[in-house]
Amino acid sequence: MRAGKPHLYINLEESSLPGWDLHRKGELAENLMRWYKENKREFPWRIGGIRSEWEALVTAFLLRKTKAETVAKYYGKMLSDLSTPERALELGVEGLSELLKPLGLHKTRARQLYELAKAIREGIGGKLPGVGPYTLSLVRCLCFGEPVPVVDANVVRVISRVYGVKDRREIESILAEEVRAAGTCELNLALMDFAALVCKARKPLCNECPLSAACSTFSPHSF
Ligand code: SF4
Repeated sequence: MRAGKPHLYINLEESSLPGWDLHRKGELAENLMRWYKENKREFPWRIGGIRSEWEALVTAFLLRKTKAETVAKYYGKMLSDLSTPERALELGVEGLSELLKPLGLHKTRARQLYELAKAIREGIGGKLPGVGPYTLSLVRCLCFGEPVPVVDANVVRVISRVYGVKDRREIESILAEEVRAAGTCELNLALMDFAALVCKARKPLCNECPLSAACSTFSPHSF
């Protein structure tokens, strides 16, 4: 499955919900999931597309600090060349670096992936190298469909803008509550798509935004 072309068919009159209550749990989730049904991006690693924990870990490593559209272009080849931890070890750091070059940060990524493959092959218990909270929750979401919050910079930006909060802990707690209320980790994917297509880092499309009625940062002069 290849990445589909993102599209926006938002009808402001139908999608804005004047008066929705930010403080009612599940409100953000409800509105975002409605938007997501119409606008979600298709990527091969999304729910149902991941076949093993190793595949989910590799996917999370590839997606780090990299646009999903860029990863999608090389995903098939990279995944097939990295089908098992043993394959990654056979390639070695040099080979991994060459393979991962199109994504950038290849030297760091190659070293980390090599260390991860080594730790898995050697059966080292405890914390896996390079696997922090973000990677762990993304793996739990993509591989097991667990409704856990996946906190990345884009998700933080959206929650912070909508609720007008800056404190990281507060943002994480809002996200955790909304994911719980949604009962699905797909809310994370909805937020990622929403951050990429509407609530962009620069020039957010506030005039096309289904959350504009309640957003504390809404700007009618946005693009
Ligand atoms: S109104 Fe603008 S800032 Fe607020 S969530 Fe929508 S796009 Fe983002």
